[in-house]
Amino acid sequence: FGRRVLIWSKDNLLLILTVLGVLLGVLIGFLARFADYGEDAIMLVSFPGDILMRMLKMLILPLIISSMISGLAQLDAKSSGKMGSYALVYYFATTMFAAIVGIILVSSIHPGDPSIKEEVGSGTEDKSVSTLDAFLDLIRNMFPENLLQACFQQVETVYVEEEAKPSFIRATMNISNYTDNDNVTQYVDKRTFVYKDGTNVLGLIVFCIAFGIICGQVGEEGEIMVNFFVILNEIIMRIVVLVMWYSPFGIMSLIIGKIMSIKDLALTAQQLGLYMLTVIIGLAIHAVITLPTIFFVFTRKNPLTFFRGMLQAWITALGTASSAATLPITFRCLEENNNVDKRVTRFILPVGATVNMDGTALYEAVAALFIAQMNGIYLSVGQVIAVSLTATAASIGAASVPSAGLVTMLLVLSAVGLPTKDISMIVAVDWLLDRIRTSINVLGDAFGAGIVDHLCRGELEKIDAEHARLEMEM
Ligand code: ASP
Repeated sequence: FGRRVLIWSKDNLLLILTVLGVLLGVLIGFLARFADYGEDAIMLVSFPGDILMRMLKMLILPLIISSMISGLAQLDAKSSGKMGSYALVYYFATTMFAAIVGIILVSSIHPGDPSIKEEVGSGTEDKSVSTLDAFLDLIRNMFPENLLQACFQQVETVYVEEEAKPSFIRATMNISNYTDNDNVTQYVDKRTFVYKDGTNVLGLIVFCIAFGIICGQVGEEGEIMVNFFVILNEIIMRIVVLVMWYSPFGIMSLIIGKIMSIKDLALTAQQLGLYMLTVIIGLAIHAVITLPTIFFVFTRKNPLTFFRGMLQAWITALGTASSAATLPITFRCLEENNNVDKRVTRFILPVGATVNMDGTALYEAVAALFIAQMNGIYLSVGQVIAVSLTATAASIGAASVPSAGLVTMLLVLSAVGLPTKDISMIVAVDWLLDRIRTSINVLGDAFGAGIVDHLCRGELEKIDAEHARLEMEM
């Protein structure tokens, strides 16, 4: 028996280290809260985690570009079309379903109460964004004017008059020391804010899809190009392995730093506890019931085994709160542990990580109705349907970076005329809900890839057979 445990531990060393990292992180984090420390201590403790985030983010761009182009170039038009349509149907259906589950839960648990609002308070001004413009923006982003620019982090410096300050920035500013979120805003002076989004991945994806498909059709000459991206992809995946061995330490550091920097833990738990619980129950239902059931129905495979294979990615998502940063690990887990065909992961996964966010949709629906409840606003059936649709759209539009969902919440709130300034009420607990919903987003992508892989196995085998035949002939 001892030998079996030893062999098992050796095979699963990385996973064991990662789980250990999480447990130690939580333990040390809470113990450290008893001590007296300042910002510098938090900065130092979080430093190794910061480095992990940077390493993961560094890999995203070459990984997405090389995987999409090489993946699509190695498929024929028919199978890539089939794969793409299966994936899109799955993405839309699961995301929408998640939003509906969220709505049902928040309506039955009813965590929002106008009297709590008095205590929590909210921002002082309100500004709605045009729903139409936000929708069009989603599509505009698919076609970046400048490909190189799309690769950079989109940074916007916003100079604003007091009155015109976008409310989400205001919301974020209301919570002093909202240090976690280097992606969302930075305070320059009273009237100047820097808003940082991720890279425009959606735009890159659209370009890579076109480029990849055509690359595969160019014929013999195109092969050099295809090979270039195939090799690039392999090299990047090897770097991913290195980063993975560093990740347990990085995740531990992220967790300790986060726990040490939370202010007023008990107070927020008291005021927003029921709301957090609603979101968490919803996400749990999605992860434990919805996704595994769909997976089983389509593939007849054991969802638990599949989940076990994804554990490393799931924990990384919890640690980083970013599906994009987790993407390299998701790739590895799917290909190595769950034997999903590389052509499927390469095509489907970057798209999934960018647009398929079940957790975010569920979260946004719950949060929107929670804000309505807090204000004592009653929403009509039509408005509730609008919430489910806009929550789905907002999750598609959210970048795969920490707290992006909070920013796209504006879309949902303005669509049904809820006060956008009230986002500030829920910012305080986003550090926790963000990582949980991100981990569900990643699971959704993974199960989706598993299903598409299963449904397209026949096609892929045909392509393989055709290749083998051609090679024999040569
Ligand atoms: N952080 C999430 C993700 O990367 C997006 C969100 O804020 O909901 O998937």
